Amino acid sequence: PTIRAAELRRLLEDLIDEIRAADDWGVPAQYIPELAAVDPAQVGAAVILADGTEIVAGDADRPFSIQSVSKVFSLAAVLGRIGDDLWRRVGREPSGTRFDSIFLLEREGGRPRNPFINAGALVTTDALLSGREPQQALSELMGLIRWIADDDEIHIDGAVANSEKATGHRNLSLIHYLASCDNLQNPPELLFGTYVHQCAIEMSCRQLARAGRGLAGLPRAPRMVSPIRARRINALMMTCGHYDGSGEFAYRVGLPGKSGVGGGILAIAPGIASIALWSPGLDEYGNSRWGTWLADRIAQAAGWSAFA
Ligand code: GLU
Repeated sequence: PTIRAAELRRLLEDLIDEIRAADDWGVPAQYIPELAAVDPAQVGAAVILADGTEIVAGDADRPFSIQSVSKVFSLAAVLGRIGDDLWRRVGREPSGTRFDSIFLLEREGGRPRNPFINAGALVTTDALLSGREPQQALSELMGLIRWIADDDEIHIDGAVANSEKATGHRNLSLIHYLASCDNLQNPPELLFGTYVHQCAIEMSCRQLARAGRGLAGLPRAPRMVSPIRARRINALMMTCGHYDGSGEFAYRVGLPGKSGVGGGILAIAPGIASIALWSPGLDEYGNSRWGTWLADRIAQAAGWSAFA
């Protein structure tokens, strides 16, 4: 811990002032109508330190669609349920392809590269769904998230889920492709419905940072997985958490992170802090533009790095 809480608070406020003054917000995800309608002029940050201090700035208490950040929690839930058997169905290598790419899936016989690209997340959610009704699988996941975030108010935004369902041809095609390769255990429609609801979970930066405390190994945090599994999930976040922008995020920020097309990022400074950032405008990889910038600036200023 190289930075004091008061200093960090000032840093977050200054960085957010800088973003607001730049007034250049970028464009939210366009392919999900409900997300396209989100006001891009929003930015929030929350950091929780090892002693439990919560430092928040900007729109840190405004709920947003966590989208693919949910894949960290579904992965944890599935590893808890079926353990390493998941890895027979999905790999652990970065893909270097877009988040919703189908290209490698064909080349590699229907075993997605990793659990964070859409194809791999669909297999993970399929495993979560097996032996359960969609409602049950989702409430199991919500129960886990509410517990680790210490907040029973966290919910799913049905309008976002339906909006993605109505336009999600790409994900549906991934699902059918997986089925054609015998890598699906549930009916395509049920998996699709469960997946879009999982992606439509709403959380604020503060709630997301709380949910990340266990992955950061902070003392007294509710632990959704064992410490060794937390380390492995962090490794996957570092190598695969930002799709084809993962190498760049690791280079610039040096911390495990997971992004979502709602503009959220969960970043982990192991043993030191859980960090959640949000701004809806995206870069060309589908990662939050200002969220990435904030992660970069905070990590540099605080001296936080997984490689320190
Ligand atoms: N629900 C989104 C999709 O599957 C999640 C993508 C993301 O957040 O990167 O397209």
